[in-house]
Amino acid sequence: MNKPTVVSGIRPTGYLHLGNYFGAVRNFIRMQDDFNCFFFIADIHSLTTHPTPGDLQSGVKQVLAEYLACGIDPEKSTIFIQSDVPEVTELYTFLNMNAYLGELERTTSFKDKARQQPENVNAGLLTYPVLMAADIIIHKAHFVPVGKDQEQNLEMARKFAKRFNRMYGKNIFPIPRPFTFDGKDMIKVPGLDGSGKMGKSEGNAINLYDDPREIRKKVMRAVTDSGPNEMNQEKPEAIQNLFTLMEIVSKPETAEHFNELYNKCEIRYGDMKKQLAEDIVSYTAPIRDRIIEILEDQDYLAKVAKMGAEKARESAAKTLNEVKNLIGFKKLF
Ligand code: AMP
Repeated sequence: MNKPTVVSGIRPTGYLHLGNYFGAVRNFIRMQDDFNCFFFIADIHSLTTHPTPGDLQSGVKQVLAEYLACGIDPEKSTIFIQSDVPEVTELYTFLNMNAYLGELERTTSFKDKARQQPENVNAGLLTYPVLMAADIIIHKAHFVPVGKDQEQNLEMARKFAKRFNRMYGKNIFPIPRPFTFDGKDMIKVPGLDGSGKMGKSEGNAINLYDDPREIRKKVMRAVTDSGPNEMNQEKPEAIQNLFTLMEIVSKPETAEHFNELYNKCEIRYGDMKKQLAEDIVSYTAPIRDRIIEILEDQDYLAKVAKMGAEKARESAAKTLNEVKNLIGFKKLF
């Protein structure tokens, strides 16, 4: 029996952070045995923020090493670099013909980015969900493991897949569904700066590659308040974020312990942060060691990228052929 197909990717801008790990990569690792997996490095997507050629190259190598260090196995999964598969940009062009300005302008991620970088509201940002749809449907994905921040973009991918199927009267693309384990909600890893999500562009990220000293420093700087003054008081966002992060990285009894202290108005945020920092360090330190080791073996990285590109291109070219036939690109001469 064929395994269901899974596609997901991460942009190579900087290092993988806890949001990327718990929102996406941890699920990638768990899916490798039971799904036909394609995990890529979204270097074309990252051009929306205009990296220098040097930064782009080192970012791609870094994420590749980080994927491997986290436990993605190139023998089980197809790991590839987006720009190694030009078929995806061809499909992106075709999908763009049926993607409408109004719906693209209304996506939250576009509006957020336009606000964050008003000097650089480029067409690539606007059509970001179209490229994302092409990435997913070119391998006929059934599932997409992503964090909560990508929920709307994934909804757009579903819409574009359905639209194409309808326009050309054939169910060529499965309609991709978000994937989480145990049917749980998609995860959002908060930042420690008081509000919102952890992210590279938010400048509040704790990276897998950070050394323990850096992690402790970042966690100890997390925004808190003067503490609760009523029993069982509702937590303000900054404090809730600290607890959410603890629920993600620490043992359940650790989070419960601090929750009880909070409810009894006996919490000392300094102690809680120290514990949280140590739990993050225990999680990331072995991964960090492996990243350093893998980065030293450039030949291995090149081999993995080449093998992934071949497998991904084969799958993408097959779909693109079908798409071109459906659209009506026939050989006339
Ligand atoms: P990006 O870094 O935007 O390319 O995101 C790559 C993947 O990481 C996507 O699946 C995102 O949903 C996920 N991700 C990024 N930040 C977070 C976060 N704070 N919480 C959960 N998932 C996240």
